[in-house]
Amino acid sequence: MITVIGSMNMDLVVETDHVPENGETTLGTSFSTYFGGKGANQAVAMARLGREVQMIGACGTDEYGKMALSSLKDENIKTDHVFLFSDETTGIASIIVSDADNRIIVVPGANHRLTPKEIQQLEQEIAKSEMVVMQLEIPSNTVHAALKICKEHKIPVVLNPAPVNNFNEEFIDLATYLTPNESECKSIFGENIEQSLERYPNKLIVTLGEKGARFYNGKEHVFIKNFETKAVDTTGAGDTFNGSFAVALTEGKNIEEAVRFANASASLAVEKKGAQSGMPSLDSVLNRLN
Ligand code: ATP
Repeated sequence: MITVIGSMNMDLVVETDHVPENGETTLGTSFSTYFGGKGANQAVAMARLGREVQMIGACGTDEYGKMALSSLKDENIKTDHVFLFSDETTGIASIIVSDADNRIIVVPGANHRLTPKEIQQLEQEIAKSEMVVMQLEIPSNTVHAALKICKEHKIPVVLNPAPVNNFNEEFIDLATYLTPNESECKSIFGENIEQSLERYPNKLIVTLGEKGARFYNGKEHVFIKNFETKAVDTTGAGDTFNGSFAVALTEGKNIEEAVRFANASASLAVEKKGAQSGMPSLDSVLNRLN
């Protein structure tokens, strides 16, 4: 079982040809709602690949919360440890998509009610995991508490340090793998990506958007190019990458193979609109790899 400890959101997506400046109003071309939150997205990415996944998270008892919870159940994700708060709204993300680029505002709501107390309560459950996957859309001290439990029980952790302003330096040693994109990497470790990678061989994996991803294996820099694809919506590309990377690692693949697998998976995900809608099945990832 792989455990995700993270956020659940409802994504409210507006598409537009022109992103408004301050004070400007423009017409959008469509409005859609999707299930999201980096935690839920990464859980779905892994479940689609056929893995047993449990979600540890929090949502409100509002309509969005009910919908988000049942969408996870529909993906066969275990939700027994999703905490429900009747006095809090479910997290939402307001997303503007323009030309396959995206701008996102997250209102955390119940995600911020997942505290170290809830995590400590679930220590034995977490300790049974093959791997734990986390991001930073829940409080930083909650991530810290979970990382400490994982370290104590020797459970490997993939930590996707996004949003990066919630990062704490102590996470570097506590996590097994860190998967920032280029700008997150610079903001955590400094401008020189090459040097940062060399400081954390086989731990730091930097995603490079359409170019794929890179890491340092202790001897040399390894670049894993991505498949060329026609991106329709890159929302959730990073989440698909992270979930797929974790799945591949738990199946005994080395980092290079796991990145190749994650690239293939994420390159399929960007071909469809919405974060979760395009997340591929194991068969389609294997097809792309062959
Ligand atoms: P997100 O858009 O979800 O926030 P991110 O900024 O966390 O993504 P990126 O480095 O942009 O991370 O992308 C993560 C992975 O997704 C890349 O390593 C790559 O495998 C895949 N990917 C992203 N964009 C594209 C694209 N345009 N075409 C193909 N693959 C892509």
